[in-house]
Amino acid sequence: MTEALFRDDSYLAETEAVVLASGPGGVILDRTVFYPQGGGQGGDRGALVMEDGTAVAIVNTVYDADRATILHAPAAGAVLPPAGARVLARIDWELRLKRMRAHTALHLLSVVAPYPVTGGSVGEGEGRLDFDSGEASLDKAEVEGRLNELIALDRAVTHRWIADEDLDPGLVKTMSVKPPMGTGRVRLVEIEGLDLQPCGGTHVRRTGEIGRASVTGIEKKGRINRRVRIALGAA
Ligand SMILES: [Zn+2]
Repeated sequence: MTEALFRDDSYLAETEAVVLASGPGGVILDRTVFYPQGGGQGGDRGALVMEDGTAVAIVNTVYDADRATILHAPAAGAVLPPAGARVLARIDWELRLKRMRAHTALHLLSVVAPYPVTGGSVGEGEGRLDFDSGEASLDKAEVEGRLNELIALDRAVTHRWIADEDLDPGLVKTMSVKPPMGTGRVRLVEIEGLDLQPCGGTHVRRTGEIGRASVTGIEKKGRINRRVRIALGAA
């Protein structure tokens, strides 16, 4: 099991860590700041810097089958650090921040369009959510206007841990992505006064950090499904 430092501080760009195991599947550390692919968000990229200063490029991060061990996938042909080695694990911060801004914007999008979420994806400064919106119509300009109003409120984004059994099922907005449960506790993410839902992802600290968002498309995906795409401006 890897200590997932990003769960309590998504702003950590690097950490010292010890290699527990290295193999073709990836490098396992005792602790990490690398977010593993999941919940519609890609795995972090970055590098493991060895004590002699050489760096192993990490091209993706995924969970192992146990969903508790995090695998840092090295670039092809990389010489892997041996078990016991001390490394500095450093993520591509620019990439992560873009994803954190986009991910937090999607929380606000789910406030603007209060329908069950059937799918979603977080990109680099863009993202999308699929809604089961029924017969309701979504107007692009209206959604964009409301989304930017919420961003501009500059509300605090915080999280807290609760026991699995204390999770109110009514808080679960995503039908396709199960909240991160199974460890006995679940992480609730709150945008002050606007949104409260279980989420294991990475978020910015205040909605103002998202910056200006545009709605780049609203597509029909079947009779009652709508896909809403957003893009963010430069930070
Ligand atoms: Zn989230």
